[in-house]
Amino acid sequence: MIDHRKLGRELDLFHSDPLAGAGLPIWLPAGAAARHAVEEYVRELERRAGYQHVYSPPLAKRQLFELSGHLPHFADDMFPIMRVSADDEFALRPALCPYHALVFRSRGRSYRDLPLRIAELGGMYRAERSGVLGGLSRVRSIWLNDAHNFCALDQAGEEIAAILEMIRRAHAALGVRPAGFRLSLRGTGGKYVDNPPMWDRAEAVLRDVLRAQGVSYVEAADEAAFYGPKIDVQVVDAAGREMTLSTVQLDFHQPERFDLSYVDSGGMRRRPVIVHRSIVGSMERLFAYLIEVHEGAFPMWYAPVQLEILPVGDVAVDGFFRAAVEAGLRAQVAAEGSLGSRVRDAAHRRVPYAAVIGAREAADGRVSLRLRDGRALDAMPAPEALELLVSDARP
Ligand SMILES: [Zn+2]
Repeated sequence: MIDHRKLGRELDLFHSDPLAGAGLPIWLPAGAAARHAVEEYVRELERRAGYQHVYSPPLAKRQLFELSGHLPHFADDMFPIMRVSADDEFALRPALCPYHALVFRSRGRSYRDLPLRIAELGGMYRAERSGVLGGLSRVRSIWLNDAHNFCALDQAGEEIAAILEMIRRAHAALGVRPAGFRLSLRGTGGKYVDNPPMWDRAEAVLRDVLRAQGVSYVEAADEAAFYGPKIDVQVVDAAGREMTLSTVQLDFHQPERFDLSYVDSGGMRRRPVIVHRSIVGSMERLFAYLIEVHEGAFPMWYAPVQLEILPVGDVAVDGFFRAAVEAGLRAQVAAEGSLGSRVRDAAHRRVPYAAVIGAREAADGRVSLRLRDGRALDAMPAPEALELLVSDARP
């Protein structure tokens, strides 16, 4: 069976070291190159959709998480408090929202600022039990593609609809095949904020959007965030386990806790709502899924190495290599060993293209491209080959 942990080792994508600890994967150069390409794509998608990116620290004073509600409702999933001195205690953050609420609060806001879309691909930490950790799918250090859209309640439906559209677009580019949509609702017990009218209102907004978009979905009780219901986009891994990748959540609770407000067009002070959303989920869970669904053969645009250049005999390939790198391609030269073994090795590492350059090709400035599925293209002029590769490297 396909297992991202095994493929991750074979393809040198990531590494888990017992000295660092379980659930704390290290992204090796090949995995990091693929992740970087995906991060760039997502940031650009967000930038074009009117998001503004921020950076915030992975820890904060405990008071921040008391105010946000994480310590009262979510402490079981958090690492223990770090005590520097009696009045100086810190927590590793289990979510980014509290910092983004501080971004909203960092100056006065008016209705003209809304929707204010604050995005960050940031680190957060969950105290998962060591027994459940494995590869990239369950980790303690999580890098989440996150954003919080602060808006007026009557803007929330349109905002959520636009987010669902972004999710569809990103999934198509990445090769994600969603298994279904889930409306995740509250359960009973102290885990959830006790405010039934608030939950009813938020649920109604999410249901309206799903209905208006004609999305079929299942409902699941006891799967909401502690502060509000959510629309989850589910995927199924190679072992048949269902998990949430993308999510959109509607929150009336944290705006209240942080006393967030803006001035409306009539000069009245109003409370915004927060739409929490992740287009592609955490980098760890996303790649656990992508490695399996593509069997390591990522689409060209986020393949760790996109082009392997294979010189035959004593030919100079430096010019072509430099031109490929200049054109933005992740290229490398493999000169050692027989041509057959190098072609096989590149295919085994799922490199999308190998460029074979022998004495004849070198003499008339041509290259022969081979694809990882075994197909070989006729020799073509080097600039033409680069053009083809560059266009294939677009998401
Ligand atoms: Zn959030």
